[in-house]
Amino acid sequence: MQSLNFTAIDTIGLVLGLFSIFIGIKYPDWDFKLKLKHRSILTHSPLIIFFFIYIYLNKQSSFLGFGREKEVGFRYFIMGFSIGMGIHFLYDLFPKGWKGSALLHIPILNRKVRKQKSIFLFILFTIISFVIAIGLSKSIEETTLFFIFGFVLLGLNKRKEEKLIRPTGSFLLLFLGIAFCIDSEFYEFIVKNIKNLWMVGEVGIKTVFTLIS
Ligand SMILES: [Zn+2]
Repeated sequence: MQSLNFTAIDTIGLVLGLFSIFIGIKYPDWDFKLKLKHRSILTHSPLIIFFFIYIYLNKQSSFLGFGREKEVGFRYFIMGFSIGMGIHFLYDLFPKGWKGSALLHIPILNRKVRKQKSIFLFILFTIISFVIAIGLSKSIEETTLFFIFGFVLLGLNKRKEEKLIRPTGSFLLLFLGIAFCIDSEFYEFIVKNIKNLWMVGEVGIKTVFTLIS
């Protein structure tokens, strides 16, 4: 198997990335703290990620400059945050029932978004979040690592959310699907090493399941 070199990953950036996944998964539900209605579209959308991207693109050489590549810390932060948010949207995509607080809420107009449109928007927001995270990745190692982070996070959250299969299945499907589409290097790597990866994946999944069961 073509070996991955994870030592190329910046350590400080990595810690920041991991930290930001945990913030990203929590952030949408801060709508309460911001005195908004639950599932407000202001926090339940990639709006804040666009804001981060704006800062990143405009000040990328001076903002949070850690490591070899100046902006790496902030880049990892956005990647982690986006994946965390995407996973939050995936949980929200499978509510106990599609009524009341499960629907997206639009402030100012003070209106709920209808079921079909809420579902569509949650899927769209998840895709946007993952596209941004994967788009910011600069190597197969980074994409792989953040994929593993997301996967572990879903496992760790299982008890709290009482959901596992559907969000995890959607995560695998969406993340890999998007990575295949926008990251040709990642795609080639997977195709070349599919047999070995399948074996590693089996061991990984078994380990995660024994850890959480
Ligand atoms: Zn939510």
